[in-house]
Amino acid sequence: MPYNLISSPDLSGEVARVVAPEGAITTSTKGPLHHFVVPLPRFAREEKGRGFVSLVGAGPGDADHLTLGALKALQSAQALLYDALVSEDILALAPQKCVKICVGKRGDRLSVSQEKTNELMVRLAKKGLHVVRLKGGDPSVFGRVEEERLYLEQHGIAHKTLPGVTAASAAAAQFSFPLTHRGEARSVTFLTGRTKDGSIDLREESINDPMTSLVFYMSSHNAAYIEASLLNAGRSPQTPVVIIENAGRPSARALSGTLREMAALVAQAAFEGPVLMGVGIAFGYARLATSVKARLQA
Ligand code: SAH
Repeated sequence: MPYNLISSPDLSGEVARVVAPEGAITTSTKGPLHHFVVPLPRFAREEKGRGFVSLVGAGPGDADHLTLGALKALQSAQALLYDALVSEDILALAPQKCVKICVGKRGDRLSVSQEKTNELMVRLAKKGLHVVRLKGGDPSVFGRVEEERLYLEQHGIAHKTLPGVTAASAAAAQFSFPLTHRGEARSVTFLTGRTKDGSIDLREESINDPMTSLVFYMSSHNAAYIEASLLNAGRSPQTPVVIIENAGRPSARALSGTLREMAALVAQAAFEGPVLMGVGIAFGYARLATSVKARLQA
């Protein structure tokens, strides 16, 4: 079986990764650099020298949320395909001569379809470039990263994934609430109110445990439905709720209240940026400047 040492000067000695279709991956360490040594699959032999894609989490807000790995990948990017939610100060970290293309989606507003994004990644990588696919938050959380990895593999493009801070973690840090809390919130569930076919499937077993913190992504437009479903599932109307817009940014806004007030709060707030909704005991610890009651009565 032929072996290939994958290490790209573009990646400044970072770990590079190729996934063999057989799934066989071995590792070896040389000097200070770590290399993955993989049995070279047929497609990779044919596509050798055809570039590399880093699927990178940008975090939810300003550049302070980037990992060091993400920063290095950005600095060595030759082509950057970024989501609409990625902030300007992060884009500025890529080299000036790097090609920068916004492929972002915001809610229903599609700029570039997923298919086009996939094709672009492959086309640029086949030019021999280091392509950075920069995604808001963590690529593995509602980030369609698996679709992109599969497409890259189908086209014989080597890739690796770098994690990012997901919006829920940034919101929790910024507004000082935990996502889990010993004895009170023993698990946390990330859910979405937007599915491929537009339906929402809130199964009771995933939402009715009072010891589980729920964080809803892409869901503020369905706040009324979610509030009703949670109440129906037996969640107390007094369950603390926090709604956060633009987490991780200086412009962040958060409102707190109870489950019974959730939809009214969202309606009143008229959010424009990305929004998370947190439901559960842990969210009662949030430190906010303004309380819901004051806002609702104002
Ligand atoms: N991969 C991302 C989530 C992408 S889905 C992550 O890990 O954070 C897009 C949804 O994420 C938005 O509709 C919103 O619900 C949430 N989101 C992303 N950035 C956010 C931010 N800065 N503040 C609040 N919510 C955010």
